[in-house]
Amino acid sequence: MRTIDKVSKQEIEQFETSIRGTVILKDHPNYDQSRKIYNAMIQKYPGMIVMCTDVADVQKTLLFGRKHQLIIAVRGGGHNGGGFGICEGGLVIDLSGLKSVRVDVEEKTVRVGGGNIWAEVDHATHPYGLAVPAGIVSTTGVGGLSLGGGVGHLARNYGLTIDHILEADMVLADGSLVTVNKDKYPDLFWAIRGGGGNFGIVTSFKFQAHELTNVVGGPTLWPIERTEEVMAWYHEFIQNAPETLNGFFTTMIIPGAPFPEHLHMKKFCGVVWCYSGDLSKATEIFEPILAKNPLFEHVSEMPYPAIQGMFDGLFPSGLQWYWRADFFGELTDEMGKEHLKYGSNIPTALSQMHLYPISGAAARVGSSETPWAYRDASYAGVIVGVDPDPKNADKITDWCKSYWEALHGYSSGGAYSNFMMDEGQDRVKASFKHNYDRLVEIKSKYDPQNIFRLNQNIVPVNVKQNTFNK
Ligand SMILES: Cc1cc2nc3c(=O)[nH]c(=O)nc-3n(C[C@H](O)[C@H](O)[C@H](O)COP(=O)(O)OP(=O)(O)OC[C@H]3O[C@@H](n4cnc5c(N)ncnc54)[C@H](O)[C@@H]3O)c2cc1C
Repeated sequence: MRTIDKVSKQEIEQFETSIRGTVILKDHPNYDQSRKIYNAMIQKYPGMIVMCTDVADVQKTLLFGRKHQLIIAVRGGGHNGGGFGICEGGLVIDLSGLKSVRVDVEEKTVRVGGGNIWAEVDHATHPYGLAVPAGIVSTTGVGGLSLGGGVGHLARNYGLTIDHILEADMVLADGSLVTVNKDKYPDLFWAIRGGGGNFGIVTSFKFQAHELTNVVGGPTLWPIERTEEVMAWYHEFIQNAPETLNGFFTTMIIPGAPFPEHLHMKKFCGVVWCYSGDLSKATEIFEPILAKNPLFEHVSEMPYPAIQGMFDGLFPSGLQWYWRADFFGELTDEMGKEHLKYGSNIPTALSQMHLYPISGAAARVGSSETPWAYRDASYAGVIVGVDPDPKNADKITDWCKSYWEALHGYSSGGAYSNFMMDEGQDRVKASFKHNYDRLVEIKSKYDPQNIFRLNQNIVPVNVKQNTFNK
């Protein structure tokens, strides 16, 4: 692999005139802003960033990168924890210019550009009373979230985001554009529903939407000292709750406003709920939850985009993030003790632990129907160390790793790939489990040289393990 300084000025200029988008080199006034990604713990300096405007730009940029043997990063929303949307010295294909959301009200489907973020999708679908299941922060990119899985507020009721992909337009490693769906390129259609950005650059998705306008949701929080008891109750409750009710368990600190002042900087365990069923039954649904006497609750009816954006303000771009994750089948008393211990030692106001339920509709899809192998796990867990100050990078990383190590022994062995950092090939294999070999076969067919390697990488046969850019 080469870096951009090995490419002549003339060749760069020729390329620049061939595209509609903008080429950003190191001396460009927007370079520093353009190279930044959401996770400020990752600072990399690509040789060239291309802000693509259309599919032809993506194709030409990819072929330029290939011709000059540049390491290639593909950036959707730039939210990836491990920072796979950026690279050192090479080429970044930025998709943020590929934005367009078209709602088909009759079909209840949505066409979305490869560079959109979820807030833009929600904005377009909500007026028609439609929604596509996504995550819990609406500034996240559609591209990375959808290709990796998509676990969020609607997972129990409707399933994961990948369960709603009907079709995708993709630029493959050889520069060709294909449309994949259940009939065309069924192998690729299978692989992109969980296998990440390994197989090509998705320039547009078509999603199935659901009729959904308002939900009832929000947090219920208990003092951290009650973690063991509340977690045991939650485990029993959520497994038996109607599928229209979702709720992820958390250990967290209340950082400040808009929460009441007397709670600021106090540690809590709790659940963030989202009920997407018949709203006339909401009071009945929440009755047993409120009977647990939370110290603080803010459950109310709101438009679906409001719950999607509830945490956006808390987590702006540019913070330090360190992630660790695993799937879990059970929440035992021993695990409750560890959650109490590490929840009581949360190092900074924004660091948190979440357990997302994988049940209901998300669990009814077979574990080989898509690459998302852990449909039989009960929870996708994630621990995030977060803080604005780079001086606290070690502190949040150490807490996150120790918390993860304390619980890993109780896990199902692998993690949701979108909740992982760059953690090595064994972790990638554990994450795709029995689906890894099929993914290798498809990767070897469509990207035998591993052009798309900055992701939770499926290494094609005859290519040495991905070591570049680590
Ligand atoms: C604050 C926050 C909250 C989150 N909450 C959730 C959540 O609730 N549920 C959940 O499931 N996940 C969640 N995530 C994780 C999220 O799904 C991943 O970080 C995901 O990788 C982000 O996608 P992106 O497009 O923004 O990232 P990027 O960094 O741009 O890309 C991530 C990976 O996807 C590839 N990629 C992106 N777009 C495309 C495309 N169009 N074609 C081909 N490859 C592409 C990139 O090459 C890279 O390998 C959250 C992340 C953050 C930071």
